[in-house]
Amino acid sequence: MSKIIQAIRGMNDILPAATPHWQFLEQTLRDLMASYGYEEIRLPLLERTELFSRAIGEVTDIVEKEMYTFADRNGDSLTLRPEGTAGCVRGAIENGLLYNQVQRLWYLGPMFRHERPQKGRYRQFHQIGVEAFGMAGPEIDAELILMTARLWGKLGLCPAPENSKGENSQAANGKNLTLQLNSLGSLAARAVYREQLVKYFSGRQEQLDEDSKRRLHTNPLRILDSKNPDLQTLIANAPRLSDYLDDDAKAHFTELCAYLDAAGLAYRINPRLVRGLDYYNKTVFEWVSDALGAQGTVCAGGRYDGLVEQIGGKPTAAVGFAAGLERLVALLEVHGESRIQAPHAYLITAGAGASRAGMLLAERLRDALPNLRLITNCDGGNLKSQLKKADKSGAQFALILAEQELAENYVSVKPLRMQDQQQLAVSIPALAEFLSHYL
Ligand code: ATP
Ligand code: MG
Repeated sequence: MSKIIQAIRGMNDILPAATPHWQFLEQTLRDLMASYGYEEIRLPLLERTELFSRAIGEVTDIVEKEMYTFADRNGDSLTLRPEGTAGCVRGAIENGLLYNQVQRLWYLGPMFRHERPQKGRYRQFHQIGVEAFGMAGPEIDAELILMTARLWGKLGLCPAPENSKGENSQAANGKNLTLQLNSLGSLAARAVYREQLVKYFSGRQEQLDEDSKRRLHTNPLRILDSKNPDLQTLIANAPRLSDYLDDDAKAHFTELCAYLDAAGLAYRINPRLVRGLDYYNKTVFEWVSDALGAQGTVCAGGRYDGLVEQIGGKPTAAVGFAAGLERLVALLEVHGESRIQAPHAYLITAGAGASRAGMLLAERLRDALPNLRLITNCDGGNLKSQLKKADKSGAQFALILAEQELAENYVSVKPLRMQDQQQLAVSIPALAEFLSHYL
């Protein structure tokens, strides 16, 4: 035998046992997007490297060490998209979608980051991204956040907003997803704050770890994001961004909070929430689960009013979020409901001519009952071995078409899941009607 070729580390096969959760999640997302008037946009997986280094920032984790970058046959530097916002902004500008108009867009698909694979962190993973363009006020920030809260409700991960209590406590959100909120202010205000932060950490360099020392002059805000337990006291005593916010950002944030309060959605203001990408301003938020260990952030987003211009478009207000589907599927699995859809029936045939008649019967049943899930035995075997396969498939009924049935135009229907139920003879013209009661 030849040597087995293995998949690339951190790039997973999603197997049939898991795909029902994925399908449920994706369908719920599509329905949710439609219910808020968001339209789908489909974007390439590959973009010019320059797009990401310019949009995400040269000194971010993603651009410094996580991108899959290679030269194509023409020598152009291309990168597998590590996130969707940059490509979405590029596509929206290029196709004239941002010219004097508001856009509500979403996309769903794989992203690629060369990270250390572990539970909840992969090298190919999937995100839904939602981006709203052309709206500068806090209303749209609130809409996006309420939309995510509704999503948890629809997925059965958390009560929908109308059912929560409206207190700013963790418990009011029920289950275990917490909304964290912060404001990064304007880029100008952040620059002033950045100076203060550099001053503070520079005076305490001996307490910093290697990563933080490196970030001190390139991206000092990211030190606040450090997960190193030894740095937590130092970080807790650092100057606070909230003390440096400009009035416009302050008013925006206060109003956003008022919208969330009015909707009864609980949140926690986390002054240390800075996010790993450079393009954010004003609102940033994350939804964090306590059921996933260290990889607990299932959804993250914020406002990025400067990005469109940075990528060559006209100044355009923008806000969005991305949610990691692997982590959401993991939560669906924690909450346990099985979504595997067993077939309703499994068709067995035996004897001359029965196999062909069976195939045609199956087609007619599917004509009559579009929702019927019917498996036709296609790999031979005697009645006993076919019945075993029928049972293993999880079907409710085995439909048996052997010589006698064929001669007398009926099917023997053997219930496989219901105790004490006898085998029935159902005439072929009545079979669809019979099955329709079990769909
Ligand atoms: P983290 O802090 O976990 O690295 P991030 O800030 O890099 O997350 P974003 O770029 O904001 O993440 O992506 C949004 C969401 O996408 C995350 O909250 C997470 O659910 C998911 N995500 C990000 N990176 C990965 C990954 N490597 N594997 C699986 N999911 C991921
Ligand atoms: Mg990351």
